[in-house]
Amino acid sequence: MVLPIFEAGETVLRRPARLLSSDDILSADTQTLIAAMYETMRAAPGVGLAAPQIGLDFQIAVIEDRAEYIAKMAPDQAAARRREPVAAHAIVNPVLEVIGTDTAEFFEGCLSLPSFTAIVPRALEVRVRCLNERAEPVIIEAYGWYARILQHEIDHLNGTMYIDRMLSRTFMGRQNFERYWSGVPVNDAKKALASHGR
Ligand code: ZN
Repeated sequence: MVLPIFEAGETVLRRPARLLSSDDILSADTQTLIAAMYETMRAAPGVGLAAPQIGLDFQIAVIEDRAEYIAKMAPDQAAARRREPVAAHAIVNPVLEVIGTDTAEFFEGCLSLPSFTAIVPRALEVRVRCLNERAEPVIIEAYGWYARILQHEIDHLNGTMYIDRMLSRTFMGRQNFERYWSGVPVNDAKKALASHGR
């Protein structure tokens, strides 16, 4: 079932979500919910969806970055983002740890802020300790775009959105992004938009 996506302005997107017990995760209701979250993410389409985005304050997010999405990008753009396919999986009660000090800046969007985008600095590499959809503990080490997706979704579970972390002078509508900036190196876009003030 494809669920409606909540947009910015809903309090559920602005407060920390609740932890789930193993019994909660394995319950029929949660399993049905996770299946609906996959369906909703794919219908959007998006590469991640957190439960607060469908109005539920549970620490659950689903992630999937399909090869067919990446194939739609110019190969040099996919390579610059270090974007590789990620198989569908759920994260529950995640704890995120940044590895190293390297960061990356790229345009990022969010299904709860449709039609907008901005440059968001993110850690290049992260480690996430969480439970999977079978309530098994897992440790994920992620690099590049997958690390960005994890940071974005785990932010949602803590009531944070990318607009809280963006370079605000690079915020724009999708149409202008497509018109002016989608084929431009991100550093050039940043220089043109964000170098003349704060
Ligand atoms: Zn989002």
